[in-house]
Amino acid sequence: MTLLVYAPLWIEARTVAPGLPRARVVHSGMGPLRAHSAAASLWQEAGPDDPVAVIGFGGALRPGLRPGDVVVASEVRGGDRVVACPTAPVLAAELRRLGMTVHIGPVLTVDAVVRRKDDRAALAETGAIAIDMESAAFLDLVGDRPRAVVRVIVDGPDRPLVSPATVRTGFHARRVLARAATALQTWADACAPRSIRLAGPRSFCAGVERAIAVVEAALKQYGAPVYVRKQIVHNIHVVRDLEERGAVFVDEVSEAPDGSTLVFSAHGVAPQVRDEAAARGLDVIDATCPLVSKVHAEARRFAARGDTIVLIGHRGHEEVEGTTGEAPDQVVLVESVDGVAALDVPDPDRVSYLMQTTLAVDESHDIVGALRERFPNLHGPSSDDICYATTNRQAAVREVARASDIVLVVGSGNSSNSRRLVELASRECGEAYLIDDEHDILPGYLAGRRTVGLSAGASAPPALVERVVDTLAGFGPIERLEHNVVTESVEFSLPKEVSR
Ligand code: SF4
Repeated sequence: MTLLVYAPLWIEARTVAPGLPRARVVHSGMGPLRAHSAAASLWQEAGPDDPVAVIGFGGALRPGLRPGDVVVASEVRGGDRVVACPTAPVLAAELRRLGMTVHIGPVLTVDAVVRRKDDRAALAETGAIAIDMESAAFLDLVGDRPRAVVRVIVDGPDRPLVSPATVRTGFHARRVLARAATALQTWADACAPRSIRLAGPRSFCAGVERAIAVVEAALKQYGAPVYVRKQIVHNIHVVRDLEERGAVFVDEVSEAPDGSTLVFSAHGVAPQVRDEAAARGLDVIDATCPLVSKVHAEARRFAARGDTIVLIGHRGHEEVEGTTGEAPDQVVLVESVDGVAALDVPDPDRVSYLMQTTLAVDESHDIVGALRERFPNLHGPSSDDICYATTNRQAAVREVARASDIVLVVGSGNSSNSRRLVELASRECGEAYLIDDEHDILPGYLAGRRTVGLSAGASAPPALVERVVDTLAGFGPIERLEHNVVTESVEFSLPKEVSR
């Protein structure tokens, strides 16, 4: 596939051409009419999937955009036409990786240079962040081809096109434009038809749905603010969304004001935390996942027997801290098979083990094997502590990874179960990345990869997966393949303090 690039002015075309070795760069002058006629002749030669781009200088509408900043169009508007550019987040990620200051938003195509500040302010009211004179006209007949618009800012509301600083800012903007062209080539190299293999189950588990529902119900019943100790679930999108609706996330009980409502997160808390909240007289609502509560109950049972409890988990994780708090003098943490050899216990015949619910299934079973070898009378939980959601998501991502060139896992960096999915997928197919959303995808992940596996951790909203699919579809035709290894039907009721 050949990248077709429209750089309206000769100076723009000459600046970007060295960075676009696999592109056809055309320029036929400024303005929508010239852009439209250039497009009309190009589309006759272009293939239906050839990527298309407009690159050049542009004017800022949004205050705060500075000369040399790069605008990537989320859509271009002209007349009553709007052309969406769904791959904008990925191109922007590549530009940022190269060190540029990047803004994503609508670009408005106008018929003439806008010189008056008032006129710019009026155009900014439309929500567009930058203006040019060609993009909408050039992309008018683009069809389903992958498309991108990159504009390097040279003027803005407080900097007219011709001013004493024009020469200096012009040189700077030209250097940025040259570098932006290399990112555009990388973007184009990612354009291709591909298959998207979706792992099922993926995204929210029953425990996460319950925890979010608890905060929503508390906000409805008690009104904002509702305080939540720690992130309710480990996902930045969920946290931001609840913050916007009135949740206030705090690290410790002491940060919740007297008389406030405090929610404990899905990961569970140590008894000492409960005691502190009770002593303060706070209205507590416990959103601990029932499957985490089960592990706490086992910890109490084993501790009552006088056992040393080997907790298999990750140091510093909130769930591990909460479980350890049930019997701090008897719990020892083990993170790997090597850690088993280093254990020093008072009575090898009184040892039991528990697990963090979100561990890698294979690795933790290896650790249990090593424990059994060292402590033949080892006691374990009545049923596996690794929860159904973790187990199912790992099985699904394994199947998908085996048939994919690369796997993307939607989830936040502090999500244990999401990180385990990435590790597992990486072992199976050689390359996997954790992404919070489509803005974390680099075009280099996609170049040469025709099959992309996609999953999401138990704390990642399903809508994010759809956003990633829509973004990938912007790089060329996609075939969407669902790989459902099991259908989940687990549901947990809400705590008595709240109702749906
Ligand atoms: S991952 Fe498992 S233990 Fe954690 S909240 Fe979900 S169902 Fe509960």
